[in-house]
Amino acid sequence: DPGGNVRVVVRVRAFLPREIERNAECLIRMDPGTQRTTLLAPNDADPVNARARARKAVEERSFTFDRSFWSHDARDPHYATQEDIYDCLGEEFLDHNFEGYHTCIFAYGQTGSGKSYTMMGTPEQPGLIPRTCEDLFERIAAAQEETPNISYNVRVSYFEVYNEHVRDLLVPVAPHQPPYYLKIRESPTEGPYVKDLTEVPVRSLGEILRYMRIGDSNRTTASTKMNDTSSRSHAVFTIMLKQIHHDLETDETTERSSRIRLVDLAGSERAKSTEATGQRLREGSNINKSLTTLGRVIAALADPKQHRPSRGGASSSVVPYRDSILTWLLKDSLGGNSKTAMIACIAPSDYEETLSTLRYADQAKRIRTRAVVNQVDAV
Ligand code: ADP
Ligand code: MG
Repeated sequence: DPGGNVRVVVRVRAFLPREIERNAECLIRMDPGTQRTTLLAPNDADPVNARARARKAVEERSFTFDRSFWSHDARDPHYATQEDIYDCLGEEFLDHNFEGYHTCIFAYGQTGSGKSYTMMGTPEQPGLIPRTCEDLFERIAAAQEETPNISYNVRVSYFEVYNEHVRDLLVPVAPHQPPYYLKIRESPTEGPYVKDLTEVPVRSLGEILRYMRIGDSNRTTASTKMNDTSSRSHAVFTIMLKQIHHDLETDETTERSSRIRLVDLAGSERAKSTEATGQRLREGSNINKSLTTLGRVIAALADPKQHRPSRGGASSSVVPYRDSILTWLLKDSLGGNSKTAMIACIAPSDYEETLSTLRYADQAKRIRTRAVVNQVDAV
């Protein structure tokens, strides 16, 4: 199946201590039978939802996604663990990678909604990225025993888009030096890419996890009002998998290359940050630029007119990929040669932000991509 819709799932996290303290109510219901997610109107004096209450039109809203992950209450029989998320999404996407398809999974949601927990996780509860790495090297080890005529080449890169700049997360920032930013180039065959980005070959799970941690600790952290670490940057972890198959009978060699992109987006609330000032404001508005452009790109791609060729065969509407660094770099993942999934992360008791995330996700599920197997005959 070359054309497929962007897979969209939603995940709600447990209460944090600060939410328990203010007696927050859980506004989310998920129906395991239908995968339907319902956002209830807040009906208490919870200060976080005061603005939503003050508006007249606050009501119950329902959305249906491919999967609804209930990670709110660990005692619930339908509780979704980190392993459940990997089993539902990560494993299947890795199958596609071995078939030769590019994939992309990105986490969207407000700061504190569980994006980094879902993608990276903790040492005790590893997320999608470390689980993908582990499964990748397990599969390679198993395949090498069975089929010695296939060899594998794995490389990894890790960068962040921060304030409309690209920074290599595998290069440490020198203290007291201005950070070094990379440029974007576009190749006719490969599409947009980051020029001079570090791509390291990795031979084992231990090695790839080490680079993952290095990159993570290099990730920009700036304190903000809503604070949590890394809430202001978009982090893109990429694994390049090359499978070189040597046919012993015909003596022919074929190469399959796939790219596994795992993206932890900046907090979606940035779009309406009001309390930031000065440098923070400038950063905020630029981060806003990548996120608002992502929203416009998704809206354009979700528009059915997009799929109708105009006279001359070219696509009729213009998708504004190049209006921000993030959308330019993710062009292929969003509307091209990739199988793509979005994990919409939501907090349990934040009506306005959750509604905005669910609407965003609802639009994303209408996007279709056209993935192809990336295979060439090698000489
Ligand atoms: P984000 O990256 O979206 O800003 P985080 O992933 O940092 O949010 O999550 C915010 C807090 O909530 C963290 O303390 C994290 O450990 C916790 N958390 C998030 N999702 C879950 C979950 N599914 N189960 C348990 N704790 C979670
Ligand atoms: Mg985070």
